[in-house]
Amino acid sequence: MKNFIIFGPPGAGKGSQAVILSKKYNLKHISTGDILREEIKNRTKLGLKVKSLMDQGALVSDEIILEIIESVILSTKGFSGFLYDGFPRTVYQFKVLNEFLQKIGYKIDAVISLVVKEEILIKRMLRRAEIEGRADDADIEVVKNRIATYREQTEPLVEIFEKRGNFYPLEGDTTIEHSFNEICTIIDGLD
Ligand code: ADP
Repeated sequence: MKNFIIFGPPGAGKGSQAVILSKKYNLKHISTGDILREEIKNRTKLGLKVKSLMDQGALVSDEIILEIIESVILSTKGFSGFLYDGFPRTVYQFKVLNEFLQKIGYKIDAVISLVVKEEILIKRMLRRAEIEGRADDADIEVVKNRIATYREQTEPLVEIFEKRGNFYPLEGDTTIEHSFNEICTIIDGLD
């Protein structure tokens, strides 16, 4: 089983790439944001617990996220690997993911990072709010808070990824198709 991380700030285009990549390579797409939104939609206990944090643009606790991830990994069958989208978002999440994968005989094969300028991120999220109706995209203050949360809690991962290798930062402000082709070239070049 291959394990790929698609990394980048909110609005970078991780979800769009993850959908088409997972189809092409038969990967299980694990979007922690989508899973949490589904919990909120279904008004589960977990959904109620995470809603206000998500509405504010803050992170949900590592414990909750890691429990979700481990259970999805263990219950998935019939795929050639996993594509993590919106996860890991903290240094701790990455550490625990590595340990967990190692325990079950897997490793992270590549981290693909989409690099996009802040003005473009903001524009994209406000536009996405009109199409998808996500509350955390519609409010400029929440959007800015999500970017700030990313800079504080998620971006420190970049240094760790750089040291680890198999890290591929890509210009993410071109087109979906252009980024997709670049990512496919990277994946096809891995052994
Ligand atoms: P985006 O990357 O566009 O901001 P996501 O759908 O990945 O959106 O995440 C939406 C929200 O869900 C985040 O702002 C956060 O509150 C929560 N969330 C998603 N993934 C994680 C994670 N790995 N750790 C903590 N919180 C998360």
